Amino acid sequence: MKSNTLQNLRSQLFDGNLSVCEIVNYYLEQIDTHSSLNAYIEVWKDEALQKASELDHKITNGKEVGKLAGAVFSVKDVICVEDKIVTGASKILDNYRSPFNATVIDKILQEDGILIGRTNCDEFAMGSDNRNSFYGPALNKLGEDKVPGGSSGGAAVSIQIDSCLVALGSDTGGSVRQPAAFTGTIGIKPTYGRLSRYGLLAYASSFDQIGLIGNHPEDLLTTLNIISGTDINDGTVSPTANEAISATIEAKLKLGIMNSGFDHHSMDPEIRTFSKQFIEKTLQDKYTVENAEFDLIDYVIPTYYILTSAEASANLSRYDGVRYGYRAENVKSLNELYTKSRTQGFGKEVKRRIITGTYVLSSGYYDAYYKRGQQARRILVKKIKSLMEEFDAIICPITPKFPWSIDEKISPVELYMSDIFSVLPNLTGFPAISIPIGTSQNGYPIGIQIISNSWEEGKLLKIAQDVL
Ligand code: GLN
Repeated sequence: MKSNTLQNLRSQLFDGNLSVCEIVNYYLEQIDTHSSLNAYIEVWKDEALQKASELDHKITNGKEVGKLAGAVFSVKDVICVEDKIVTGASKILDNYRSPFNATVIDKILQEDGILIGRTNCDEFAMGSDNRNSFYGPALNKLGEDKVPGGSSGGAAVSIQIDSCLVALGSDTGGSVRQPAAFTGTIGIKPTYGRLSRYGLLAYASSFDQIGLIGNHPEDLLTTLNIISGTDINDGTVSPTANEAISATIEAKLKLGIMNSGFDHHSMDPEIRTFSKQFIEKTLQDKYTVENAEFDLIDYVIPTYYILTSAEASANLSRYDGVRYGYRAENVKSLNELYTKSRTQGFGKEVKRRIITGTYVLSSGYYDAYYKRGQQARRILVKKIKSLMEEFDAIICPITPKFPWSIDEKISPVELYMSDIFSVLPNLTGFPAISIPIGTSQNGYPIGIQIISNSWEEGKLLKIAQDVL
């Protein structure tokens, strides 16, 4: 199915050459074959097949079906599906069942999309390699000793193994784009405010967006147009989000190359050289290409981790052992219940961020860290805005590294530093896409990132279509 776009699949469906059941069965087989990669935490086989046969029945009888009939989605374990377990890959939500659908899920179901299962990820979407999951790491199909990236590692692998059309992930600082780069797939984070976060487990609310991973820009475009738009349950969605995204653009686009990114000391030399060749050979041919000056790159990681930890510490205070999921036993007081439930329920990285966040928000350090973080964020927004006045899109790296080994020891700060290029769009709210541009000598994928002005996801998808 990999080479098939949704449009392709649907023409076969309506011609009677393929059935939705066949599509779903094919995907289920891929999940089975690749179960050792630990991409899925749960597979919703019966419901998926049931829905598929209902759709087949409608199609054979000439009845109308939705725009997503034939499209199958995997769902990252941070997005709520009614009556299904959702845990954020955390013990603290062990066996917690969502009483409602996230808005994006409702929209997909309304258009007859099928949900195939729940994918693995870093605990509460905090991480860059899927090793922070309560369910154990997901593995990269390109080398089972390699990480698939994170936090949406399972989502990226679900596309890599061809087990669905589009994977729903979340992106707070690169979590769909970096795993896409590590698995040779496409990942898009929409503009902040493009779609509803209702039903998405919150990590850092002013950064979080639901994002998509897939193989074809046109499938991402179709899905994005369906799941976007204002929502009574989320006031942060902008009315602009109701305007359709189009990737049909005639004008010759002007691209700004963030050379300071490609020349950054943290960049793997092979990724640097490959990307520069891609810019020279492919981009210069099709677009007007100029240098985009950006000298603030070293500020993005401290700013991102201060602010997201602050928001995480507030957001995760709701997991107290009383209301959701895991509850410690043999406790003698309410305080002990809180303490033990949180101590036993949260993993190491989540605790680190809660403590960091509480520290930077504390009255003694608020001005020194949180306030300065907010000021730095404003400076970054201003800078990217001014670049967007000059260019249609900015080209920069997505990750400085190739997928590392599953048992490689990496310090938390080193891991944070590997997010250096992916957090900028979340800090500033602009949409961004990661596309695969080739492979290394060892056969690992190389990705590149494109950032556009707010609400111009169409340009990102158009460039992706042009160059892939
Ligand atoms: N790696 C980043 C972090 O750990 C981004 C995660 C994300 O986008 N959810 O915060």
